[in-house]
Amino acid sequence: MFNKEIETLELTELRELQSRRLVNLVNTVYEKVPFYKKAFDEKGIKVSDIKSINDIHKLPFTKKTDLRDNYPFGFLTVPESELARIHCSSGTTGKPTVVAYTENDLELFSEVVARSLAAAGAKPGMKLHNAYGYGLFTGGIGVHYGGEKLGLSVIPVSGGMTERQINLLRDFKSEVICCTPSYAQTIGAELKKRGISLSELNLKYAVLGAEPWTEGIRQQVEESLGVVATNIFGLSEVIGPGVSQEAYDEKGTGSYIWEDHFFPEVVDRYTGEPLPYGEEGVLVFTTLTKEAMPFVRYWTNDICSIDYDQQGSRTHIKMSAIKGRADDMLIIRGVNLFHTQVEELIHDFVELVPNYQLVVTKQGIMDKVEVKVELSQNYGKSQNVNGVLTSEMVNENEKLSFLSKRLGKKIKDNIGISMNVTLMAHNQIPKSEGGKLSRIVDLRE
Ligand code: AMP
Repeated sequence: MFNKEIETLELTELRELQSRRLVNLVNTVYEKVPFYKKAFDEKGIKVSDIKSINDIHKLPFTKKTDLRDNYPFGFLTVPESELARIHCSSGTTGKPTVVAYTENDLELFSEVVARSLAAAGAKPGMKLHNAYGYGLFTGGIGVHYGGEKLGLSVIPVSGGMTERQINLLRDFKSEVICCTPSYAQTIGAELKKRGISLSELNLKYAVLGAEPWTEGIRQQVEESLGVVATNIFGLSEVIGPGVSQEAYDEKGTGSYIWEDHFFPEVVDRYTGEPLPYGEEGVLVFTTLTKEAMPFVRYWTNDICSIDYDQQGSRTHIKMSAIKGRADDMLIIRGVNLFHTQVEELIHDFVELVPNYQLVVTKQGIMDKVEVKVELSQNYGKSQNVNGVLTSEMVNENEKLSFLSKRLGKKIKDNIGISMNVTLMAHNQIPKSEGGKLSRIVDLRE
C-alpha cells in the first residue's frame, strides 16, 4: 500500500476526518464561490448547520450545467495567479468543463494516483507505459505524476500509433500499462496480428479506465496482454483518474474510493434522495480537500452502487463497476439500456469477443437495435462449440445464423428487448485508436 495509515484508517476516524474537512469546505465555498452562496441561501442552509459528514445530504448538488454556466473560472476559490495547472473535461458537446489545480491539488492528485497504481500491483522500480492521452484530458498527465510519485519510471507514450506502442513495450519491457480498456483490446489484437508472443513482452499489470467495461473485456485483455487487469476510475471535476481503484488481489469486488479526499454518495437519479449501500443510482462526490475548485455534491451522472467490503484489505468504501452514464442510457421501446448489459451477455459466448457496437435506428415509431459483434479469431477452428451444434448443421451459414439467434434470445430473455444480431468477421468493428471508444451509434433523429 502506498499510504497504509490512511488506506486502513478505522472508519470512526475516517468519519471524523471527513467531518472536519467538510466543515472547512462549506465555510470556504460559501465565502468564496458566489454560486454556492446563492445555492445555500436559496435552500436556507446556514454554514453552521453543517457539523459533520452526516449533514452532507442537506447540501445542494452541483451539476455539469452549473460548471458551464460559470465558465471558465466561476468556481475558483483562489486567485488565478495561484493556479498551477488547468485541465478540461473531455466532453464532446458544448463548452468544455474547466478544472483548475493549485500546487497542493497537484500533490493530492499524485498521491491518489500513486495509491491507485500501488493497489493495481505496481511497485517502485517498475516501468509504466502510459498510453492515456496527454493534453487537456486529465488521464495522461494525472497518471504520469502519480506514477513518478510511486517511484515508477514513466514512459509518456500517450494514445495512438499502436505499432510504436508495441515496439516500445517489447523494447523497454514495461511491467505496467495504463490505457482505456478498449485501447488495451486494440493493442492485444495488434500483438496477435503481428505474431508477437507474450514472452517478448514483460507486462504484468494493466490499469484500465476512462470508460465503462465488464468482465468479458477483462478476460480478453488479461489473456491477450498477459496481465492482471484492474479498474481505475475518475473524472476531471473530482480530480481526474485515481478517484477509485480496484486492488489487483481483490479483482471483481469493486474499486476503493479514496474517501479521505472524495466523499461518495449514491442517489436516486430522479429524486436525488440518498440510496442505501448496495443500491444502484447516480454517483455523487464531494471533494473534501481540493483547494482551487472544490465541488459540493457533484452529480457525476455515472451509475453504480457503493458498499463496504468487510473482507477487503483497506477500510475505504468500494464502488461497483460503472454500468454507464445516465445521459448515455438508451431508452428502447420504454426499456432502459446500457451497452454494458449487452457486453456482459456476449461474454457467455466463446465464439464471440467483446468487440461490439449497438446501432440504434427508428423504423416508423419503433426503435430498432442492431448488435454488431465480432466472431472470435478462433471461430471455425473449434467446431461443435458448447456442444449444441448438431451434425445436420454442416452448413456454415446455418451455424452462424444459429449463433446469432442464440445471442438474440439471450438478450431478449435477460434485457427484455428484441435486437437483431449481426455477426462480423474478426477486426470488422471500429477499434479504439487510443482514447475512449463509443460503443453506441444512435441514428435516430
Ligand atoms: P473525464 O472527466 O473527461 O475524464 O471523464 C470522466 C468520465 O469518464 C466519468 O464520469 C465516467 O463516465 C467515465 N469513466 C472514467 N473512468 C471510468 C471507469 N473506470 N469506468 C467507467 N467509466 C469511467
